[in-house]
This record gives sequence, structure tokens and C-alpha cells, in this order.
Amino acid sequence: MEKVRKYDYKDIESIKKLIEKNGCTFTYQRNEILKEFVENNDKHLNAKEIYDKLKYKKIGVSTIYRTLKLFTDLNILKEIKINDINYYELKIFIREPIHMHFQCKNCRVIEDIFDEKILLRYLEIKKILEKKYRYKIKDVDIIFYGLCNNCIEKFRKR
Ligand SMILES: [Zn+2]
Ligand SMILES: [Zn+2]
Repeated sequence: MEKVRKYDYKDIESIKKLIEKNGCTFTYQRNEILKEFVENNDKHLNAKEIYDKLKYKKIGVSTIYRTLKLFTDLNILKEIKINDINYYELKIFIREPIHMHFQCKNCRVIEDIFDEKILLRYLEIKKILEKKYRYKIKDVDIIFYGLCNNCIEKFRKR
């Protein structure tokens, strides 16, 4: 089940304010990269995909990497490493903070999984681990792999 709310251009305005509040300039490139995430806010994009989408606007790879790092540092994006590739998703205002991921082994699509029961289990496990190891746990990454609905259908039709 997905739990991503529809975007709103007001989101870009408030993210712009946050960036400026942190002493950074809201450049043309940063705006373009942010727009990709806001307009595709149910997606998980990697640097190459963003580059391919924006190369006609002459935004270079190193600018993209630097911006992704800045946005991650400011908690605007969340970075998820899957099979050695870093994917990014819009985190701020949009998503449930704790959710899991599913990646299809066939088409590589990444989907969000949000389930309240699992969230409660996670909070329980977090408590147990914090008590046992005296950690302060801030986040968790759980990735399931398998076949997505589309691919199951495709294989069935063959
Ligand atoms: Zn698939
Ligand atoms: Zn996600």
C-alpha cells in the first residue's frame, strides 16, 4: 500500500525557504532537480535517471551529485541504497517517515510499502534493541525483493 500524498507547488516554496534558511542559494539547477522529485513524488530516482531527464536543460552530472547530497543533508530527500545504487525519494512533507521498500527483480521498479501493523512491530523491535544495546536508533531500511504485479501478469500471459 502506498502512502504518498499528492504534491502541491506550495511544497516547492517551503523547501526553497528551508534551503535559504540554511544559507544556500536556491539556484536554477536546484529548482529543476527539486521539481523532478516533487512531480514524481511516488518514485525513487537515481542520479543517472535525473541526469537523463535534465540533460536537455544542460545540468551536469556533478551538479546533480552535489545537489542530491545537499538535499539529503537537509532532510529533503532520503537516500536508499539498493544493490549498490543510491536512489532518492522526496521525504519532506510527503512520505510517512518510516516505510519499507520493494524492488522487482525483473523490471527493477521500486515501490513504497506502508503498513501500520508493521510500523508498530518496528517500534517494538527498536525499543528492544535500544534497551539491549543502548543504541539510539533513528531509522531503518527494509527492502523486499520479488516480482511486482505487472511482471507477475506478464509472466502469466506467456
Ligand atoms: Zn516488475
Ligand atoms: Zn520509499
